[in-house]
Amino acid sequence: MSYTFNPQKRFLMGPGPSDAHPRVLKAMSTPLIGHLDPQFVQMMDEVKDMVQQTFLTKNELTFVVSAPGSAGMETCLVNLLEPGDECIICVNGVFGGRMVDIAERCGATVHRIDTPWGEVTDVNQIKSVIEKCPDPKLVALVHAETSTGALQPLQEISDLVHNAGSLLVVDAVTSWCGVPLKVDEWGIDALYSGTQKNLSAPPGLSPVSFSPRAVAALENRKSKVQSWFLDLNLVKNYWSGAKRAYHHTAPVSSVYAMHSALSLVLEEGLGNRWERHQNIHQYLRNELETLGFSYLVKAENRLPNLNSVYLPKSINDEAKVRSILLNDFNIEVGGGLGDFAGKIWRIGIMGESCTKNHVNMLIGALKEIL
Ligand SMILES: *Cc1c(COP(=O)(O)O)cnc(C)c1O
Repeated sequence: MSYTFNPQKRFLMGPGPSDAHPRVLKAMSTPLIGHLDPQFVQMMDEVKDMVQQTFLTKNELTFVVSAPGSAGMETCLVNLLEPGDECIICVNGVFGGRMVDIAERCGATVHRIDTPWGEVTDVNQIKSVIEKCPDPKLVALVHAETSTGALQPLQEISDLVHNAGSLLVVDAVTSWCGVPLKVDEWGIDALYSGTQKNLSAPPGLSPVSFSPRAVAALENRKSKVQSWFLDLNLVKNYWSGAKRAYHHTAPVSSVYAMHSALSLVLEEGLGNRWERHQNIHQYLRNELETLGFSYLVKAENRLPNLNSVYLPKSINDEAKVRSILLNDFNIEVGGGLGDFAGKIWRIGIMGESCTKNHVNMLIGALKEIL
């Protein structure tokens, strides 16, 4: 038996990963160099610079965790929370729930604000919890909830959180490079993202950034960070230029790919990229609604790059149609999670998967199947 692996080329229109540009794939096959080689160090500095530009931040403590988005989430929470701290976490889907789980493992007392899936957290809900718990260390929200396709407004919440003397922590995994995300302007104190959504790089890395206020909180910790690998005190020196010291071996090829994908974002222009996601979303929405699909999230809170839709009545076995799409048309779309399993599809148009051709292919295939 021979072990060759030659997967079919797929068109990735689910919740991630998304399609990668050929230049990004080619970067992955660049010969390896040592992770402390001055050439690699210079490239890491460029990655940091491009992450700062795309986060719209001047935060010095900005770097890339060598693990997927969930590890970025864990990095933010384990470094900012100590046993006995109080925090507020807003839950309106899978990823808010994951933050609660991590925060509890840190020994924090979590005040959880639940909002029905598909909706966003209202600023008044946070206000009333802050009245009862006046001194939370942080308030955490998911900017783009990939399990439902809801886009959380942050600006008004940011003022409220800062007035309470608390830190604003944001999951920007599915918003970064797809919809407006303005870290400094919005006063976000800690955030994490991922490479495999709108950036269109392979999964496995998580850019993070911490404001000077968050850095001060880190410096005032009384206890050691419970995780060795994610402890910022240890890992941050690894991302500081010439002073670089060995911490772990960077995933060299993945960083090549991320560098290449970031350069493509800057060539396109961040604003143009946001606009492209919005325009293709409108194009997709018209086509889907004509076929009888309807949106889960109301128009003003809709994430353009992740379309959660109920299926037309004529489809009673959604899993079967998704498997025909995959097997006969090589198109991947996502199914629903939690209460929405079997009820909705999650159609991603992220990064390289956000083109008219992708939409036309999907709609053409659906017309044939239906
Ligand atoms: C995908 C995703 C994550 C987790 O990222 P992984 O790379 O899968 O670990 C976290 N939050 C949101 C909103 C996501 O969409």
